[in-house]
Amino acid sequence: MKAGDIVVTRDTNGFNPWTHVCGLIEKAGKTLGLDDGMIRRIITPERILEVAVPVRMDSGEINMYTGWRIQHDTSRGPGKGGIRFHPSVSTDEITALSADMSIKCAVVHIPYGGAKGGVKVDPTVLSRGELERLTRRYAFAIAPIIGPDRDIPAPDINTDTQVMSWIMDTVSMLAGYNTPGVVTGKPLEIGGTLGHAGATSLGVTICTMAVLEKLGRAVEGQRVIVQGYGKVGGPLVKLLSERGMKVVGLADVHGAIHVPGGIDAAQMKEYFIKNGTILGFPGSTTVANDQFFTIKSDIAIPAALGGVITADVAQSMSASIVVEAANGPTTGEANEIFRNRGITVVPDVLANAGGVVASYFEWAQDLQGFMWEPELFTSRLEKTMADAFAYVWKRHIELDVSLRDGAIAVGVERIAEATQLRGLFP
Ligand code: GLU
Repeated sequence: MKAGDIVVTRDTNGFNPWTHVCGLIEKAGKTLGLDDGMIRRIITPERILEVAVPVRMDSGEINMYTGWRIQHDTSRGPGKGGIRFHPSVSTDEITALSADMSIKCAVVHIPYGGAKGGVKVDPTVLSRGELERLTRRYAFAIAPIIGPDRDIPAPDINTDTQVMSWIMDTVSMLAGYNTPGVVTGKPLEIGGTLGHAGATSLGVTICTMAVLEKLGRAVEGQRVIVQGYGKVGGPLVKLLSERGMKVVGLADVHGAIHVPGGIDAAQMKEYFIKNGTILGFPGSTTVANDQFFTIKSDIAIPAALGGVITADVAQSMSASIVVEAANGPTTGEANEIFRNRGITVVPDVLANAGGVVASYFEWAQDLQGFMWEPELFTSRLEKTMADAFAYVWKRHIELDVSLRDGAIAVGVERIAEATQLRGLFP
């Protein structure tokens, strides 16, 4: 579709994350009674930068990669959003994720707009040197549009504190001085913050507890399945278990397992470090990937890639609550099925916002040049997430829509207010 078109139909063949997000924003805009011009303005991405990323491989050969940085909306503040390195990256995927970030930052009420970046590459086949050269060349290519006051990248799929360090260093070298505030999710030694690692998982946990409370269900003994055992899924297993829930299913890139009695988080961590996979964990049975979400459970938490919950998966889902730790895990069709089946979905733009809230705290500390105590960080994160959940819950009841549509409406409403207040330039 052309940027800015109002979407009247959803995808039928194949899931396109960008048209899907456009549809959700348009629906929220209509629920709120916004006019078409405002809806078009909110949907349309502000800036799409596509860059060539040439990399000299260890063999001496030059490989070409394509990268993007997309700023969707900056009416509420500088662009904010992660950078992913993955073979599935495309303009549509990154545009959709940048719009999700605009909504997400507005939902948790932090002073950012939305942005996202990525490089279409499989980083697992690169040497460390190749990965560093790719990262630095990409950072150089997007440097003209990023910066602490303009757009602040962070980690996302397949990017980590090391990648953030290289980006920070590249931008600092170009500037001629240190710019720690240009990225978040950095190591502690160069302006990172305690608590950033695991913040998304903490936010997911807070939302899980909050939704159980709203539905009048006990926390203790809830059976949870988690798809993904990486940056988000890993800490999540521990946090959920600590609160008395039982993680009875777990999946990683190698496959899925079922442990009816619940996984011991510390034992799993140790097993994973030793074996590089969750498969073969003592007491577990292996489950086919396409059967993962059928595992008998109360809560399902997708914490890996987008688009994994298709119509078939939604139809056979055992859980009655889905908490979206991943970005965009549920397709439009699957969403309808969840609605018809009465399954409660805590949407990504709320559930996984703990990561960007932590980024906001890191950036604020960098700009101030003043580091917070860990207790302050955690209490502010918990409060921000709990307040956002409570407000989205209230609005979804007032507007008489699903939790997802309620969350998007909260985001769209705040973006529309900022856009309205600022007026149209020139
Ligand atoms: N990649 C994370 C997300 O999708 C964090 C983004 C950020 O901290 O800027 O929310």
